[in-house]
Amino acid sequence: MNEIFLMKLGEIVLKGQNKKQFENKLRQNVRRRMKPFGEFDVYILQSTVYVQPMNDSCDVEGAWEACHYIFGVVSLCRCRPCQKDLDSIFQAVEAYLGDDLDCAQSFKVESKRSDKSFPLTSIGISQEIGGRLAEAHPHLKVDVHHPAYTVYVEVRDLAAYVHGPAEPGAGGLPTGVGGRAAVLLSGGIDSPVAAYMIAKRGVELECVHFFSYPYTSEQAKEKVLELARLVTRYCGRMTVNVVGFTAIQEAIRDKCPEEYFTLIMRRFMMRISQRIAQMHGCKCLVTGENLGQVASQTMEAMGVTAAVVDLPIFTPLIGMDKEEIVTIARRIGTLETSILPYEDCCTVFTPKHPKTKPNLKEVERVESVLDVEALIAEALEHTDKATVRYDESADAEL
Ligand code: ATP
Ligand code: MG
Repeated sequence: MNEIFLMKLGEIVLKGQNKKQFENKLRQNVRRRMKPFGEFDVYILQSTVYVQPMNDSCDVEGAWEACHYIFGVVSLCRCRPCQKDLDSIFQAVEAYLGDDLDCAQSFKVESKRSDKSFPLTSIGISQEIGGRLAEAHPHLKVDVHHPAYTVYVEVRDLAAYVHGPAEPGAGGLPTGVGGRAAVLLSGGIDSPVAAYMIAKRGVELECVHFFSYPYTSEQAKEKVLELARLVTRYCGRMTVNVVGFTAIQEAIRDKCPEEYFTLIMRRFMMRISQRIAQMHGCKCLVTGENLGQVASQTMEAMGVTAAVVDLPIFTPLIGMDKEEIVTIARRIGTLETSILPYEDCCTVFTPKHPKTKPNLKEVERVESVLDVEALIAEALEHTDKATVRYDESADAEL
C-alpha cells in the first residue's frame, strides 16, 4: 500500500512535560477511529501522526475522511513514501502528483528536512526537484510567490514523503486529556455547538436531556439523540441521559407563579444535571446559554440558576452572536437537524412575562412550596440511558 497519512499535531507540541501523555492519548484515539476501516499502523514521530494502511482491503477513503474529525490534529495530508534519494523523490512526485501538476499553470516545491544527515538542505532539495519537474512539464512555470500548486517534500527519519497541499484538521486537544463534562443537550441550535466546543478542548462528554412526554414528542427526543450522534463524529461514543421531566414541570405549573416557571425549571435542570455529572465523574456542567438571548439568559437569571449547583458551569457561547453560532453549527453538521420543528421542554408552559431580573431570595421563597428532593429523586428514577456513536459506514451508504 503505497500511501500514508501524515497528521500534524496542534497545541500538543506546546505541552512540555505532558506532551508524551497527550501523544499517547491521541495515538490511542486515532487507532480506535481507524478500526472500522481495516488494519492501519498508527505511530507518532517528530510531532507527526503516521497512519499507514497495512493491506489492500483497507478503506483508505473512509479512513481519510474520518481523520478530519480527530481533535488534536491541526492539518493532515496524504503522502507517497519513498526512498531518501533525489531520484526516488522525483519519481514519487511524478507518479503521485503528476496529474495535479498537469492541471496547474505554475508550481513550486517546498521541502523540509528533519533528517539532518540528508546531504542536501531543504532549499537544495526544492531546487533540484523543482528543476527536474520544470523540465518534465514544459507548460509549468516556476512561481515561488503565488504558485497554482505546491509540491511538498519531507525528508524524515524513516523515509521521504511527497504530498500536495495539506488540509485543515479538527484542531483542539485529543479527546480524553481534559476530563469529563456533563452537557445539557436540548434540541436547539446552541447546545450541540456548546458540546462540540467543549469536546474540542479534549473533554469527554456525558449528555443530559430533559424530556417532557407527552408535552414533547418522541420525535423531539429522537432529534436530540441524532444531534448527540452528530457530535460523536468528533468526540467518540457518548451516553445521553434522558430525564423524565414531566412531573417537575407540572408541579411548577401547579404551584408556582407563572413568571417564575422557566427559572425554577432551569434550577431543577441544573440540580439534576449535577447529580448525573457526579455519578459519571464529570467536573463541570456545560450549557448553550448566550448572554441576552432569552429572558432566562440575563446575568441575574443565570446567577439564580447557577446558585443551586457547586460545579462550575461552562457556557462556551456566552459572548457569541447568533450568526457566529449558526456558522459553527453549519460547519459541524448539526444545523439542519437543530432547525427541525420539534418542541423542547423549555417551550412548554412558557410564561408570557418571564422575570428577567429575578431576585434569588424571592425565587427561593416561591420555590419552597415544592418538595425539591422528592421531585429530583423521582426524575432520576425516570432516567433512561441511550448510547450514541457515529456510524461511519452509514455515511458511506448514503
Ligand atoms: P438551545 O438552542 O441549545 O436549545 P436556547 O437558546 O433555546 O438553547 P434555552 O432553551 O433557554 O436556550 O436553553 C439554554 C440551555 O439550557 C441550552 O443551551 C441547553 O444547554 C439547556 N437546555 C435547554 N433545554 C434543555 C433540555 N430539554 N434538555 C437539556 N438541556 C436543555
Ligand atoms: Mg432551547
